[in-house]
Amino acid sequence: MYGSIEVRGARENNLKSISLDIPKRKITVFTGVSGSGKSSLVFGTIAAESQRLLNETFTAFIQGFLPRYGQPDVDSLQNLSTAIVIDQKRLGGNVRSTIGTVTDTYTLLRLLYARLGQPHIGHSSMFSFNEPQGMCPDCEGLGQVSTIDIDALVDREKSLNDGAIRFPTFAIGTWFWTIFVQSGFFDPDKKLRDYSEDEWEKFVNGEETKIKLKSVVGTMNSTYEGLVPKFKRLYLTKDVEQMASHMRVPFEAIVSRADCMLCHGTRLNQAALSCLIKGKNIAECAAMEVSELVQFIRSIGEPTVAPLVSSLAEKLDHLVDIGLGYLSLNRESSTLSGGESQRVRMVRHLGSSLTDVTYVFDEPSIGLHPQDIHRLNELMQQLRDKGNTVLVVEHKPAVIAIADHIVDMGPGAGRSGGEIVYEGSLAGLLAADTLTGKHMHNRQPFKANPRIPTGTLSIEHATLHNLRDVSVNIPMGVLTVVTGVAGSGKSSLMQEVLPQRHPGVVSIDQGLIRGSRRSNLATYTGMLDVIRKRFASENKVSAALFSANSKGACPECQGLGLIYTDLAFMDPMISTCEVCGGKRFTSEVLAYTLRGKSISDVLEMTVVEAKEFFTDPPLTKMLTALEDVGLGYVTLWQPLSTLSGGERQRLKLAIELGNVSQVYVLDEPTTGLHMNDVDNLIALLDRLVDSGSTVIVIEHNLDVIARADWIIDMGPGAGHEGGQIVFEGTVAQLVNATRSVTGQYLKRTMI
Ligand code: ADP
Ligand code: ADP
Ligand code: ZN
Ligand code: ZN
Repeated sequence: MYGSIEVRGARENNLKSISLDIPKRKITVFTGVSGSGKSSLVFGTIAAESQRLLNETFTAFIQGFLPRYGQPDVDSLQNLSTAIVIDQKRLGGNVRSTIGTVTDTYTLLRLLYARLGQPHIGHSSMFSFNEPQGMCPDCEGLGQVSTIDIDALVDREKSLNDGAIRFPTFAIGTWFWTIFVQSGFFDPDKKLRDYSEDEWEKFVNGEETKIKLKSVVGTMNSTYEGLVPKFKRLYLTKDVEQMASHMRVPFEAIVSRADCMLCHGTRLNQAALSCLIKGKNIAECAAMEVSELVQFIRSIGEPTVAPLVSSLAEKLDHLVDIGLGYLSLNRESSTLSGGESQRVRMVRHLGSSLTDVTYVFDEPSIGLHPQDIHRLNELMQQLRDKGNTVLVVEHKPAVIAIADHIVDMGPGAGRSGGEIVYEGSLAGLLAADTLTGKHMHNRQPFKANPRIPTGTLSIEHATLHNLRDVSVNIPMGVLTVVTGVAGSGKSSLMQEVLPQRHPGVVSIDQGLIRGSRRSNLATYTGMLDVIRKRFASENKVSAALFSANSKGACPECQGLGLIYTDLAFMDPMISTCEVCGGKRFTSEVLAYTLRGKSISDVLEMTVVEAKEFFTDPPLTKMLTALEDVGLGYVTLWQPLSTLSGGERQRLKLAIELGNVSQVYVLDEPTTGLHMNDVDNLIALLDRLVDSGSTVIVIEHNLDVIARADWIIDMGPGAGHEGGQIVFEGTVAQLVNATRSVTGQYLKRTMI
């Protein structure tokens, strides 16, 4: 026995002073409906305290730079070890980061080329696209070059005073516009098409020149710079995803990106590309699917590099084992989904020789086909067998099944949860009278009477990514579930090709919601406007007083209630504002009440509580929609940045619920949902379809698959072994489709 992590009196968020012992060097799975308190216990208490203790071991000087982790609300925690949290946050948006660089496999590949490649060209940095010695000189290692379409950027039929420059930051009256107009180089009323050659050259490409600008307070010094160099300097170095949305559309019309002509997108210079092992250069290796690359690496028989070959092959094997063999090392990490990112992170840790670490996973099965879950299970078992403690928050029966110990939380969500309703073995759970216990053997039956389609949406000859000339008819007015192993092409077809061919399609994904740091559930849904007006009329004051950017807001946190500490090397740290104690407003504003509740009290209500408190129809409607999508336990002020991917997707879905006759595409909407919540989600999707919409869902969840009117199964494998439609039809027919792994899997597990 290695003892247990002893938790006594945990009260974080909704936890009701719970105590439990979690066995060390075992796999413990935490189950329970969404909002029951699993994350509050595992992440908010155990992992948070472990981080805090770790930070305390640093010197005071270093601590000054670290986030001040608040002490979790718990009486005592004994026997903790270092916790490593592996969650679904996407791997950063840096364009220089690839699967190869984040898993260190590309580093090993570089070493291999430096040792064995012919002609021999020297140090391994010669093969790095992020270092001057290796990068392509034209694109500086980005693989792509951006071109500005000058005719999209300006309208030659207009003068500067007519607004000839079409980008928002150069609009009439802006500072940049003023510089052009007052530079003295151009007649602001002359149409651009009438510019002389010299004027046009100065306007488009002019070098930096000192100029004087006239203003009401006198003349001031400034610098003139041609439109194109200025635009490049301002916008081309930035990540487009970070750009404000009103600028992104014009930006994309003006700037096009294409593979660099010199390196053909390989990012490397000619010296690096001419160095070969067995006829292949390093870029060709990085472009291969990992499952093929392993075979190539293993075929290198040179004894002097045998240790290098075996450690590289072992890391690549881990990627294959975890169902990521279809990726290539040159794939930009920012293009991975949340589930893929989590599995890549897991691979980084598998090679680690640390033991007695507590690994904490957040729904690791996301994005995995049921047939691949056993491989994930094996990897978690490997981590355990190396002497680590594995804590997993999961909802899928196939993962729950490998637990050495289960902690089932509930009985409900939010204030109705926060207790342990069952603790013990799997056999005990199956017999337990809890929502999880009951759902373990109470699954959804196959749909007997599928709906009749009202039309079709067709896609013809799609070839994006791995899609092999795919043509398909998607039935309208029904619930279609798209299945297939990870990497088979489901998202490429439904989230990228479909909305391109049929622009009315609404894709509801798990992606970040823009500007989310300042927004919370109440502002994002528009409910705060209504609430503010109710407080204003009740107290006969201005509604603006209750806004986060008014003088009524706490001056320290500007009405956020939270303080964000940005850290270069970690996620930003969030802590409660000490001035207002998280109440967001000045005491003057907090004194105004509505039926005994201050604005802060209202914002602290959960969706369910707010629904009981308010009777205003627009609020009730939104609150009901939020409850319907399984977000009843979220509080109104909860910052959107704290929502998980699954919660974000369901929030977007709630906002869409008022609309009718739309075409929706959802990507694993069951993420974060307990089996019981999945039943509610299915009922909701059914209602959407019954009210005239077409719903297309990419899913691995067997209960959702069972309730589909129509199935489109992709495969047969992943990456270049996939990209085809292997089955189209009803669930009943799918079970008999011999070419479909999904069908075979359904047959084995459900009949
Ligand atoms: P689960 O992981 O089981 O879905 P959580 O631990 O995330 O549940 O949530 C339990 C309860 O705590 C819910 O009522 C939720 O709204 C609340 N909660 C979660 N995170 C926070 C937070 N940062 N601040 C306040 N309440 C929170
Ligand atoms: P699924 O949704 O079924 O998991 P995807 O459509 O995400 O599959 O991926 C299908 C194939 O396309 C995979 O080989 C994947 O590596 C590739 N792929 C997906 N997105 C990109 C991208 N942004 N850039 C390059 N390849 C991609
Ligand atoms: Zn290049
Ligand atoms: Zn404050």
